[in-house]
Amino acid sequence: MRLSELSLRHFRNLGVQDLQIPEEGLALVGENAHGKSNLLEAIYYLETLRSFRGARDDQLVAFGQDVFRIVGTMEDARGSDATLRVAAAFQRAGRRKKVTLSGDEPPRLGDALGHLGAVIFSPADIAVVNDGPSERRRFLDIVLSLNTDGYLEALQRYRHVLAQRNAALRENRGQSMVRIWDRHLVEFGARVVEGRRRWLRDRGPLFSRYYAEVSGGPAATLEYRPGFALEGATDGEEVETALCRALEASSSREFRTGTTVVGPHRDEVRFYLEGERELDVREFGSGGQRRTVALALRLAEAATIREVRGREPVILLDDVFAELDAGRSERILDLMEREETGQVILTAPKESDVRFRSDALPRWHIRCGQIEA
Ligand code: ATP
Ligand code: MG
Repeated sequence: MRLSELSLRHFRNLGVQDLQIPEEGLALVGENAHGKSNLLEAIYYLETLRSFRGARDDQLVAFGQDVFRIVGTMEDARGSDATLRVAAAFQRAGRRKKVTLSGDEPPRLGDALGHLGAVIFSPADIAVVNDGPSERRRFLDIVLSLNTDGYLEALQRYRHVLAQRNAALRENRGQSMVRIWDRHLVEFGARVVEGRRRWLRDRGPLFSRYYAEVSGGPAATLEYRPGFALEGATDGEEVETALCRALEASSSREFRTGTTVVGPHRDEVRFYLEGERELDVREFGSGGQRRTVALALRLAEAATIREVRGREPVILLDDVFAELDAGRSERILDLMEREETGQVILTAPKESDVRFRSDALPRWHIRCGQIEA
């Protein structure tokens, strides 16, 4: 898909604007704090129905207003007549979120996710390397929810069962009141693990290649560290058995700590630099190496969209080249030019920072939230 029209109402500082988005995309130039990231945040909201910056919905409503609304018209990039209108609105007072697809409310909010097929690259991506394991699980959960049937449902049900089970443990309700949750915990937990494991296994080689190409040197690798011993399990059933065993083995620890201590909520992903000896990027990586890991993950995400949905992802670039050295930026630009990319919407504080397809992308400007084509 590509975005052809975007209508904004009181989203952050963007006011009331109706924009016709060029087929190839655009480069948005504007000084700090004028609303560049806000525009990408609005576009990406149509993909995930939440802020890519982790802001709460009520923070996205313009100061002094009660409701924001974003409507995006999407067209099939392959030129068929099919268009889809995704509309998302949030009301601060009632804390109500409403989403429609070409006018109809979908049965579940989850059905409204992922229609644009966008990937966002932002300086904040570095958190996936630098911060705790929950950031890495969050990355996987978003990619898998948007691209794998049934993953989001399994994840939501796992979280629900886990919360119930943890409440039973915390309130010391006894073995049987804890154990009644185990069957579902194991069933949904195994599905989450399978999804994560498969993605990391299938995309791992691509991640390594992207990393090597951007760094212009040795590769890096991904490793899945599940939150319990998989014991060589190779399919869903075996994963269930392994999780069952792990729960049994941790029983006394659970009652002592009052929480479930094994399962995919404790999963971790490690990044290693290849070389004479493998080094954990989180412990030994430089700033540039960390950034490159984050970029390679986003590129692997884009490849997933390309493959799963059979079409080019919309690429959103939020001032991403600012912090890479010249060699790395050149190589990532080359790489992106080579991978087939569809529509590209990028932001930069200065004209001279627009390097990606700098001749091909129409130059737009933003000032105090007002966008000028
Ligand atoms: P930089 O180049 O520094 O990244 P930017 O152009 O990306 O800047 P944004 O983050 O898009 O800037 O926008 C920041 C501006 O948006 C700030 O001026 C902030 O006050 C304003 N802003 C944020 N939330 C709201 C809101 N809910 N209502 C109105 N304005 C808001
Ligand atoms: Mg910004």
